[in-house]
This record gives sequence, C-alpha cells and structure tokens, in this order.
Amino acid sequence: MKTVIIGGDAAGMSSAAKLRRLNKTAEIRVYEKGSYLSYSSCGLPYSAAYEDRSIDRLIQRTPADFEASEIYPKLRHEVLKVNPGDKTVLVKNLDTGDEFFDTYDNLLIATGARPVIPEIPGIGLENVLRLKTIDDGIKLKSVLPGVNSVLIAGGGYIGVEVAETLASV
Ligand SMILES: Cc1cc2nc3c(=O)[nH]c(=O)nc-3n(C[C@H](O)[C@H](O)[C@H](O)COP(=O)(O)OP(=O)(O)OC[C@H]3O[C@@H](n4cnc5c(N)ncnc54)[C@H](O)[C@@H]3O)c2cc1C
Repeated sequence: MKTVIIGGDAAGMSSAAKLRRLNKTAEIRVYEKGSYLSYSSCGLPYSAAYEDRSIDRLIQRTPADFEASEIYPKLRHEVLKVNPGDKTVLVKNLDTGDEFFDTYDNLLIATGARPVIPEIPGIGLENVLRLKTIDDGIKLKSVLPGVNSVLIAGGGYIGVEVAETLASV
C-alpha cells in the first residue's frame, strides 16, 4: 500500500508518523512545496522578533529524522493536480522545474489554509510582509533590525502576539 501526503507540516507529518506506527511496511511519500517540514508556527512571532531566538529551533523534525522511519519527504515539490481516476498526482520540482506523475493507493491532502490578503492598494510593496510560513518568519526577522515603526493589520491572536512581542524587544 502506498500513501501520498500533500503538505508536510503539522497535519501531514503527524499523519505520516501515525501511519508508520500503525503499518510498518506501508510506502509513505510526502510532497511539501516549502523548504521546511514539521515546524511550529506558534513560535514564529517570538523567534522572528527576538534576535537571540533562532528560527531553526522551530523545526521539530528534519527530513533525515523521517527517513529513519522510512517516510520519504520531498521538499520544494508542489502537487499541481490530483487525478482520482487513475490515482496519480502531478508534481513539480520547484528547483528544477521538472514535472512528473506519482501514483498512490491512498491520498491525504494536508495543505492547510491560506491567509486572507485584502486587496488594499500597496499590499504588494516590498516592505509589506505576512506571517504564515517559516520563510515569512525568516524574512520578518531579517528586516526588523533598523525598523522604527510597524503597522500590524489584523488583530487576531497572531497580530496581537506580534505586537506584544515587538513592544517588548
Ligand atoms: C504565526 C502563527 C502562529 C500560530 N500560533 C498558534 C498557537 O499558538 N497555537 C495553535 O494551536 N496554533 C497556532 N497556529 C496555527 C497552526 O500553526 C496551524 O493550525 C497548523 O500549522 C495547521 O497545520 P496544517 O498541517 O493543517 O497546515 P499548515 O501548517 O498550513 O501546513 C500545510 C503545508 O502544506 C504545504 N502545501 C500547501 N499546498 C501544497 C501543494 N499543492 N503541494 C505541496 N505542499 C503544499 C504548505 O507549504 C504547508 O507547509 C499559528 C499559526 C501561525 C501562522
């Protein structure tokens, strides 16, 4: 039995680990379009704001950790299409541009959610950032030194955590 998982963060990788515990021989392949797996987004506001907190600390398990359990994650591989008829997915290697099909018996879609980006004029400007992925956190951390004022759009818990953290550094 071969399971393909799309998305390599909390839902995808915890499912992969659970599946391995339940079935020692299943073939498990994970496609993750980003550069990191299994990381804790919850720490992003803090790791981005505090100079002495490395963002690397948010990474729970590396690809090598999973490979030791015979779970094979492919980073920077985006699934472009699912073909349920013949049980295949079309995958693009984001580094080489190559596209290929992979087969599955079972498919788990664990692609998370996208933040709502309002259509405000200027939203695409270079100094307008968002905080969803680890790459976003790395970018925020890199621009913060030398910044004197920050406007946070969105007063949900992420916006409030970032405001609280920036006010305390
Ligand atoms: C800044 C921040 C702080 C947070 N703090 C907390 C907190 O304190 N407590 C809490 O409980 N929750 C918190 N959350 C929420 C928590 O991080 C999410 O609920 C959790 O990450 C959801 O996991 P997921 O695996 O479902 O989705 P995601 O973490 O979004 O992972 C989905 C993955 O799928 C990949 N993907 C998407 N499409 C494709 C595709 N076509 N092909 C290949 N890969 C694809 C994405 O790159 C991504 O890595 C926070 C989130 C953020 C952004």
